[in-house]
Amino acid sequence: MIVVMRADASAEDVAGVVARLERQGLSAHVSEGEERTIIGVLGSPIDHAELGPALEAMGGVDRTVRVSKPYKLASRQFQPVNTIIDVRGVKIGGPEVVMIAGPCSVESQEQVLRIAEAVAAVGARLFRAGAYKPRTSPYAFRGHGEAALDMLVKVREQTGLPIVTEVMAPGDVGVVGQATDVFQIGARNMQNYPLLEEVGRTEIPVLLKRGPSATIEEWLLAAEYIMAQGNKQVMLCERGIRTFETATRNTFDINAVAFAKKETHLPVIGDPSHGTGVRSLVGPVGLGAIAAGADGLIVECHHDPDKSWSDAAQALGLDTFRELMAQSQAVSRAIGRTMAGAPVA
Ligand code: PEP
Ligand code: MN
Repeated sequence: MIVVMRADASAEDVAGVVARLERQGLSAHVSEGEERTIIGVLGSPIDHAELGPALEAMGGVDRTVRVSKPYKLASRQFQPVNTIIDVRGVKIGGPEVVMIAGPCSVESQEQVLRIAEAVAAVGARLFRAGAYKPRTSPYAFRGHGEAALDMLVKVREQTGLPIVTEVMAPGDVGVVGQATDVFQIGARNMQNYPLLEEVGRTEIPVLLKRGPSATIEEWLLAAEYIMAQGNKQVMLCERGIRTFETATRNTFDINAVAFAKKETHLPVIGDPSHGTGVRSLVGPVGLGAIAAGADGLIVECHHDPDKSWSDAAQALGLDTFRELMAQSQAVSRAIGRTMAGAPVA
């Protein structure tokens, strides 16, 4: 249920409703909009027939609305205005489209610095690279772990780019959180509920990838797990799903981008690298994601793409990446937005 306060409701009115809910063992999530405050009511059981009229009789309450969706805090019903996440001054979810770029894995200090400097020079606003890699085969390169986190900290120091890196285990949230500016939750971990709750107890923004076989509802409920712990800075990342199609590694679900923008207030990021798995398709599909409303892209690139230690087949070379920045700017402008930092073609 949500409680919509009147535009002239006082802080005492809001506090009164919160106290009334808490007395009943329910939790209240207050969202202060520009025009009015909305209070999300979570917990169970909620007896709508009884609680609704009781709350509506209280001072400052305009109305109560039953939230029909299973996800509440993530829902646009609960918060009509877009969430804008500020990562060291980079705003994600606002009018500007943002590019997150970097290699799949941290390979060496020189490699991450070289790629970070190149992508920063053409307007990428955040740097991505994996220190802990979820690999299908246990014999594949699984990341340099903590040593790679130190290399990422150096990248931020030298380029100013905030860092996005994956955390795979609840026990690593502390150490990864010391280094990163955004936690990436990988597709395979989308339903690792202890991990979701652990990052939910931090104040570090989270990029939540959609599981390869997750429905959109399951994905939004995964976001809800994080938000219910207090961390509301969640961005949703569509990275392709498993379908009957075998021509590409995954099938990028453009519907999910448009749907998530409509149903939630959270920023949505498109990942055309994992979404296609094919270098030549990354650009076209990424541009499609921007056209569908994505607030940003996360793209894998490398100075020597064929020699990438992981995901080589989808890595863009730096020249191709530069072209994608210019094209992303053109598509952003076509829909009344701009891409932060990208050259005008
Ligand atoms: C990655 O970003 O390199 C990655 C492993 O992504 P996903 O979890 O989407 O497969
Ligand atoms: Mn990858």
